[in-house]
Parts: sequence; C-alpha cells; structure tokens
Amino acid sequence: MKIITIKIVSAISVLITALSISSCNNAKKIETELYAMNTIIKLSFYKEDGSQLVSEEINRIEKLLSVTDTESDVGQINCSGGQGVSVSKDTIKVLNTAKNIYNDTNGCFDPSVYPVVRLWGFTTDEYKVPDDNEIDALVPYVDYSRVRIDGSSVIVPKGMQLDLGGIAKGYAGERCRDILVKNGITSAVLSIGGNVQTVGLKPDGSRWKIGLKNPDGGENLCSIEVGECAVVTSGGYERYFEKDGKVYHHIIDPKTGKPASGGYKSVTVICQNGAQADALSTAFFVGGEKLIGEYLKNHKNVNVILYTDNNEFYISRAIEDSITFQTGKGQMLHYID
Ligand code: ADP
Ligand code: MG
Repeated sequence: MKIITIKIVSAISVLITALSISSCNNAKKIETELYAMNTIIKLSFYKEDGSQLVSEEINRIEKLLSVTDTESDVGQINCSGGQGVSVSKDTIKVLNTAKNIYNDTNGCFDPSVYPVVRLWGFTTDEYKVPDDNEIDALVPYVDYSRVRIDGSSVIVPKGMQLDLGGIAKGYAGERCRDILVKNGITSAVLSIGGNVQTVGLKPDGSRWKIGLKNPDGGENLCSIEVGECAVVTSGGYERYFEKDGKVYHHIIDPKTGKPASGGYKSVTVICQNGAQADALSTAFFVGGEKLIGEYLKNHKNVNVILYTDNNEFYISRAIEDSITFQTGKGQMLHYID
C-alpha cells in the first residue's frame, strides 16, 4: 500500500524560522515558516514583522480546537459521554459558524463526521479501507443537528464526536488577521496549509496575486487577485492513501461515510470570513456544482473556483476578471452562478 501524507506531530510545537528578508521597491519582505495545526504555515510580512503574534495566536487556537489533545475543548467534548461541557468563546464561535454552514450546505459540512474519519485512519496515518458494515454502524452518529450549543455550554450526544479540522485553520487565519490589524500590521499574507488569509494590501496599495496549486503538481493552476480576504482550497490531493490502485482521500461525504467522489480535484472559496471559507470549501467539495449554485444565490459575497476531474473550471462570474489562468488552462471555463 502506497501511503502519501503530510507529516504529523502530536505535540503542539511551533518552530519559527526567519527564512528570508528581502527588499523590493523599498518595502521589506520578511518570510517565516511555522509548523502547527498539523500543517506548514508560511507567513509573508511586507512592512512590520508579525510572526510572533501569529505564532502565539495559532498556538492558543490549537490548544482549544485540537482533536488529538484530550485537554482541548474539542478533546473534552469528545470524552464527555453526552454531558454538557463548558468551553471557550472561540470554540463556541467556531461551533456556531459550523452550525450555519451545516444548515446552509444540507449537512455536506458536518464536524460530527469524526468517528468515520478516524475509522479510515486519517487522524493517525494508520490508513485502512473499512468494511461497509463498519461504516454503516457509524454513519447514524454523524448528525450535527443533534449538537446543542447553549451559552458557553456544548452538549454532544453519547456516541458522537466532533472534529473541527475542516474549519479551524480558516478561523485561525481570520483571528490572526484581526490581531495583526489591531497591532498596526497592515500588509501580510498568511498561508495556513492551503488556507490563505491576506491582511490589508501590498505596500504599494495594489491587490495580492494568490496562486492556486495544481492538484496534479507542476505550475500553479491559476492565480487570483484579491484585496483583504480569505482564499481557501480543499481537495483530495493533500491527504490521501492508495490501496489496490484506488485513491482514498480525507474529505468524507457525511451521508455515505466514504470519501466524497463528486468528480472534483479542488474547490477554492474566496470570501471575507476565514472560517466560513474553510468550512465551505470542504462542503463544496462534497456537494459540488449543484450545492455551490444554490449557496451562491443567497450569498453574493462568496466566490468559487471549482476544478473538475476533467480539468474544467466552474467559476463565479464576479471574479472572472481577477483570474489569470495558466497557459491553456482557461479554455474549459463555465460559470457557476
Ligand atoms: P484540510 O484540513 O486538509 O485543509 P479541509 O479543510 O477540507 O482540508 O478539511 C478536511 C478535514 O476536515 C478532514 O481531515 C477531516 O478531519 C474533516 N472532515 C472531513 N470531511 C468532512 C466533512 N464532510 N465535514 C466536516 N469536516 C470534515
Ligand atoms: Mg475546510
């Protein structure tokens, strides 16, 4: 069995490496790399360096939301046995955003999918293809509508467990942006494992050009010009394993308990709110064109780039002029709204 995955560290550790300090048009660029939230985080600061602030905030959020840390809010919820657990304001905020996205995506985003994610081995790297009866035994416990949030208390029914891995990095991005702005840091790009959060504009006042990774490797798929916002991509290509020539990835369709197989390579969501963008990119990967079309009708501030297994693009009309496709890539273009 061929196993391809990104490295996992269990302890919360953030290594800061000042990779480079360069100067361009009199603007100083400081690039830093951290490892936290189970992923590589790349920071670029174009005026003042805010890496210490980001590192502290990401550590704080990881301590609250980590699913592998039994002391975290999520860890405590998951061993509550159906009892109410009092959690932090941040956790309540993330759980409530998750609830909105769950409701608005017909349950395609569902943090209670965790027992199924674990069954496939995605949390431990001990991958396996479960038997259908093992999956069928867990699917009835995937139902975020049964999670109760009351003030600072959360009640998750016995047998159910949560994983906020599909929303936590986006939330961390938006929190870091708020803290940087509060501290007068006005020009930065934070990339938290596929979740990009920009802060302000480039030092010369122009927009950022964010590259979208090609799921098949090589040159970027395209780039998009944006102001201050979140640009979040989900795809089956970042964490997966292969068994008997078949690829199994980590985004699970909550209704089947199996990796979502809508025919997509990646989905990118562009919007103001990082947690919303993160949860939506996961949900859209599951729900595909139909769900995206419906969602965009009622959410004009959200834009999408969907890339299919057939190398076709479905995009929001509003961002067409902001996208630059890799040579030859933009021909298979459709509108999704
Ligand atoms: P990544 O975390 O690799 O950037 P996503 O944001 O798409 O990717 O989140 C995937 C993670 O979210 C999985 O590793 C799993 O823990 C969890 N997850 C998988 N399927 C779902 C789903 N349908 N709804 C909510 N969370 C999910
Ligand atoms: Mg996500």
